[in-house]
Amino acid sequence: MSLQVIQPRIRGFISLTAHPDGCAANVREQIETIERGDLQGSLGTALVVGSTTGYGLASALATCFGYGAKTLGVGFEKAPSEDKPGTAGWYNAAEASRLAKERGLTYRTINGDAFDAATKQEVVDALKGGDFGPVDLFIYSLAAPRRKGADGTIWNSTLKPIGQPYDGKAFDLRSETITTASIEAATDEEIESTVKVMGGEDWMDWLQTLASAGLLAEGARAIAYSYIGPEVSAPIYRRGTIGKAKEHLEETAPAADALMKQHAGPSAAAWVSVNKSVVTQASAAIPAVPLYMSVAFRVMKDQGVHEGVVEQIVRLFHDQVGPGIEPRVDEHGRIRLDDREMADSVQVVVAESWANLSDETMPLLADWEGYKEDFAKLFGFGVDGVNYDAPTEVDRPLNA
Ligand code: NAD
Repeated sequence: MSLQVIQPRIRGFISLTAHPDGCAANVREQIETIERGDLQGSLGTALVVGSTTGYGLASALATCFGYGAKTLGVGFEKAPSEDKPGTAGWYNAAEASRLAKERGLTYRTINGDAFDAATKQEVVDALKGGDFGPVDLFIYSLAAPRRKGADGTIWNSTLKPIGQPYDGKAFDLRSETITTASIEAATDEEIESTVKVMGGEDWMDWLQTLASAGLLAEGARAIAYSYIGPEVSAPIYRRGTIGKAKEHLEETAPAADALMKQHAGPSAAAWVSVNKSVVTQASAAIPAVPLYMSVAFRVMKDQGVHEGVVEQIVRLFHDQVGPGIEPRVDEHGRIRLDDREMADSVQVVVAESWANLSDETMPLLADWEGYKEDFAKLFGFGVDGVNYDAPTEVDRPLNA
């Protein structure tokens, strides 16, 4: 038992605290959206790597609460301690597991480094352990800052331009003013390291691990998430180090697909889904991207086409990869959930707003308040119905 009063301690693009009740309420809200999402059919076992926040959390919730799947997740979170709350992802997973148990469903999270062979083995053991079984759906939603190799080598993921420095608009989160970000071009080593962390190698490692253990069910599907984004963020995102990693991930998809078909039959498949930009811990850390998102959200809300994480994932399952549904893919074989964000009707207005963006025009052209609300909510703050002055139990079990 450890009762604590938890207030937000937001520092730039991270929060040092997370509120268990706020995170729990967010999870319940996502489940309600999933339940309204008219998802048809059922799924046996789902494995989600990167399941505790963002796109992975919404995906894991959709498999369990939308399709009744036995859902196993992997995340890298900090447990609560005597004097500190746990991370948001810890509380998200804890609430999902608690609710699943209450409803007679199975939702378990393994907390460990997804790159580590020991974590992969723990997953294999859990899948073989009787509660789960071979995987029908594998979702890879990892957003990691670094990767540790078996020999102790550390690769870091950097967010830098390639070839030339980036000098462009950004937003100073502390002073809340528009500034110019100057970021030097990445070295070859930084590019390679970023690809090592966020490219397709570990996705394939996971698939090979599952295949060797005989844990891919007949007709199993695998999906990994990517992002492209518009021209305004391209120098730092798609043409930058992270873009190289995403290219690598996308280029891995044909090999992933072949592996799936070899081990799980001709109807098995692997795809990359290109999702829209949403407020998550990972996207908040990318220079200029929070500012771009606040402009894009303004335009998309005005046009009635805005979606958050869970709405994107409901659409992914409902229209593209739910049981029995064949996805429509682009000329590179990718699922495109970013179609609404990338529509000319949105991007022409975004580009115009971006060009005219200043401290004076910001309140009109950008939804910065909305961005901040979404960001605080990631950590369980600013959530309706939560009493932030009351002590709350921070010691919550990851798995009920
Ligand atoms: P996020 O930060 O919300 O989630 C990352 C997840 O990865 C968390 O569950 C975290 O615990 C887990 N994780 C990080 N390092 C780990 C490790 N070493 N071992 C195990 N788990 C680890 O991120 P997100 O924005 O939801 O990103 C998920 C994926 O979606 C990424 O591939 C990202 O590029 C992609 N994507 C994101 C956006 C966006 O705008 N946020 C858009 C399109 C695609």
